[in-house]
Amino acid sequence: MSALRRLPCFVVVGLMLALSLVPRGFAQTASSDNAAALALRDDQIRVVNALLTAFSEVMGPDERAILQETDVRIPMDYDMTRVMAYRDGGRMIEISFGFLGVLIELCDDWILSEYYSAQDPDIYNKYEAYLTYLNGIIDRNERSVGQDPVTPQPFADFAGIPAEVAAEIMSRSDAQEYLGALRMAAIAFVLAHEIGHHVLGHLEAPRADSAAESRARESEADRYAAELTMRVGVPAFGALPALAIFTAAESDVADPDATHPLASCRILEAMIYTVDHLAEDANSAPLFEKSPDMRPGGSQYQTFVTLKNQHCS
Ligand SMILES: [Zn+2]
Repeated sequence: MSALRRLPCFVVVGLMLALSLVPRGFAQTASSDNAAALALRDDQIRVVNALLTAFSEVMGPDERAILQETDVRIPMDYDMTRVMAYRDGGRMIEISFGFLGVLIELCDDWILSEYYSAQDPDIYNKYEAYLTYLNGIIDRNERSVGQDPVTPQPFADFAGIPAEVAAEIMSRSDAQEYLGALRMAAIAFVLAHEIGHHVLGHLEAPRADSAAESRARESEADRYAAELTMRVGVPAFGALPALAIFTAAESDVADPDATHPLASCRILEAMIYTVDHLAEDANSAPLFEKSPDMRPGGSQYQTFVTLKNQHCS
């Protein structure tokens, strides 16, 4: 497996533990790991609403006017891929419940992997294998609409983590705190990306007439998302779980007809953007003291830049 495909886990080790992920802009929403689906959806709606309020507070008047016109919906369906911005009379954003569910699951599994890595250094490979497995299930379910969906095996089972060990790890207060922050960052990135398509005028512009043009717009929305989430104090590291699932579905080489840039390249962009901006903020100095390699110009940071230059246009 190439360095690029291995990126999400590599980045996790390098970045997310080193620069602890703590939103500074506003309070976290408490969330329970085993809430029933409806309660979970209520929880997600609360997070989305908190984010919309936070975004609105840091926006300029034109941006805010666009956000206020936008109807954000979380339809109660399990379509994993349904995340979109569109116009239907008014401005719309739809993020399906199924997508949010997978996103939250991936955040939880990520945290579990990090805490379990001391016991099993191979856990990151298992996490990556799990993404591939999950992609297969999602594909299968999308191709057999009308049949009962296959429920994926939980990550802890898949990775051979005893249930009581997983439960103990995930009940720790530091794990819960990290989890709340990561879930919020992930939802923030997705939401801000879709807001970006509205704010940047992509929906009024003529349809992209080439795949390259479409990819350019997606990159622009990603940059907007990284910038907007950072403005409310949520590091754009949320791009990691939000895009990790897509990395399992693609090869290392960009498809010239793809409408989106390679997910691993989108992750790299968000990582580099986040580190560059944290480095400008004096409050982040203690984080970099813990992990000097992550400073711009440091060896780990340089690895990301090199990967990006080699694999991403
Ligand atoms: Zn997009």
